[in-house]
Amino acid sequence: MNAGKSTALLQTNHNFIENNLETLVFIPKVSEDSIAEVSSRIGIKIGAIEADNTFNFFDYVESKRTSNIKSIFIDEAQFLKTNQIEQLAKIADKLNIPVLCYGLRTNFLGEFFEGSSRLLAIADNLHEIKTICSMCTKKAIMVVRVDTNGNVQTDGKVVALGGNDLYKSVCRKHFRKLTKIF
Ligand SMILES: [Zn+2]
Repeated sequence: MNAGKSTALLQTNHNFIENNLETLVFIPKVSEDSIAEVSSRIGIKIGAIEADNTFNFFDYVESKRTSNIKSIFIDEAQFLKTNQIEQLAKIADKLNIPVLCYGLRTNFLGEFFEGSSRLLAIADNLHEIKTICSMCTKKAIMVVRVDTNGNVQTDGKVVALGGNDLYKSVCRKHFRKLTKIF
């Protein structure tokens, strides 16, 4: 994915670190091959705490209450479960720590991810990171999955493994043209 989400996360996190403010960075563990780091296309990466789908964010952060955490960052937040998004809201409301989630709105079938759906419903603020369709100059709001031969895929697991080059950001018109889903 080339929307620059992870780059934005790393930049904002860096602003905190630079000012000696403590942060926590999480990434969902979606498979055994997951790597405990947030990395961007421009080559920067940092270590992150892996959270599988049973991980309780609220309990974890509450147990660290003695430390002085000023902000929490979540990469690939679309992969979180509904209850995990709600735990993050509880962190913001009860522990007064801001939580910044970075992620995609929809999957390669053009449907909400579970995490994104809950986030869009209960987040205080939404900030769109704009990127351009890989087929035209319109704003890309969706992603298509392509195989190694460049053919567009409309089946298979929603959590695909194997790296970022399997996905292309596209506008809605090109999503429809390429996938024929609607
Ligand atoms: Zn387009």
